[in-house]
Amino acid sequence: MCIFCDIAAGKIPSHKLYEDDTVIAFFDVNPTSYGHCLVVPKEHTDSFLDCPAQVRDHVFEVAQQLANKLEERLHCDGINVLTNVHEAAGQSVHHFHVHLIPRYVNDDHVT
Ligand code: 5GP
Ligand code: ZN
Repeated sequence: MCIFCDIAAGKIPSHKLYEDDTVIAFFDVNPTSYGHCLVVPKEHTDSFLDCPAQVRDHVFEVAQQLANKLEERLHCDGINVLTNVHEAAGQSVHHFHVHLIPRYVNDDHVT
């Protein structure tokens, strides 16, 4: 079982920000900062490393559009755009996803 496959299939609720045939974006349940969200392909691959190019490109296209919206609407001062690969790098959900972590001046407590 995979929690992001279940979210993509609508079996587990999420606060959705975007959805199309191949990608879904939703708020992180345990946000690192205000507005922290995740962009996730509906098709399961374990990480960035094995995601097919077309899907990968669309994930980053959606991430770019959403990052622009976050900046516009939340008036954040910056955004970390990142994906963790394998546990040693902090990956805890083994279904490829891109984090969008809005950053604010003087939010140094965020790691
Ligand atoms: P990772 O550590 O794999 O890079 O990031 C996984 C992220 O998924 C974490 O920030 C975690 O808070 C988030 N997460 C885990 N389970 C759920 C869930 O059921 N719903 C949502 N919205 N986020 C989740
Ligand atoms: Zn999955």
